[in-house]
Amino acid sequence: MLMTVVKGVGKEKTDIKTQFYKKSIVDKEVLKSTDRKTLYRILPELNVIKIGGQSIIDRGAPALFPILDEIVECTKKYQILLCTGGGTRARHVYSLCLDLGLPTGVLAHVGGKVPTQNARLLQMLLAKHGGIRILYDEVEKLPLYLRLGCIPILEGMPPYTFWETIPEFGRIPPHRTDSGTFFMGEFYGARNVLYVKDERGLYTDDPKKNPKAEFIPKISVQELLERNLKDLVVEHEVLINMLRAKNVKQIQVINGLVKGNIKKALAGKHVGTIIYTK
Ligand code: ADP
Ligand code: MG
Repeated sequence: MLMTVVKGVGKEKTDIKTQFYKKSIVDKEVLKSTDRKTLYRILPELNVIKIGGQSIIDRGAPALFPILDEIVECTKKYQILLCTGGGTRARHVYSLCLDLGLPTGVLAHVGGKVPTQNARLLQMLLAKHGGIRILYDEVEKLPLYLRLGCIPILEGMPPYTFWETIPEFGRIPPHRTDSGTFFMGEFYGARNVLYVKDERGLYTDDPKKNPKAEFIPKISVQELLERNLKDLVVEHEVLINMLRAKNVKQIQVINGLVKGNIKKALAGKHVGTIIYTK
């Protein structure tokens, strides 16, 4: 019996004495007491790979096909979960929503449908190799799909939709597909979180706009945040969450347009920019 009635008083009393007995779970000390250094790694051999939306998928066949070929080859050796970016179509709908005066939650909801479109495209292209789109509710089925030799594909956008966090400034949803990909890596306790984009990695500025931008091969999150760069190759929220992460201690951003980079990165080689926590 979970609840007993204290005789004569008429008040209910809980018999379950958890660590929170008579404590508030808003209390900072109580919250801190729930921490632990390491967490159970659900799928420690998993490699979570985000295929960039604007940077890769929007470039179409010439960029995408060689990357998919490389991934198919890699799935023979590695457990891979593909996550998709949004890209130009997401930016278009963001811009329309901004013009219409709509709040962030609407942008997150409608913008999040574009990574779904991209996940569907990748699924069809990979179908003959076992490409299978997994839905948010099927995240628990990932072990099955991996055992069957499938290539699971998940939209990168986290399902915050109307509940998306209010951004520090502006109205663009702060958690987009880089963040969703990172959260999957952290949740599963994955071996690797890779971002496949169209630049060598992180630079001091956007290399497409500033030819003087310098390449940064490796940097800690702490230092990167201190540098307060105007623009970044990954979402700012990924860096913030890396500071809090228990499992994912580093990510790598690589240029997927260079053949062999994905294979090398999966083998543990440093081919792009490694961002790590101290
Ligand atoms: P995705 O397609 O994965 O969403 P994005 O297009 O959002 O990727 O981000 C990758 C782009 O970020 C690169 O193509 C580059 O032009 C731009 N970028 C902005 N700032 C930087 C920076 N500091 N270093 C490298 N790339 C940057
Ligand atoms: Mg992006």
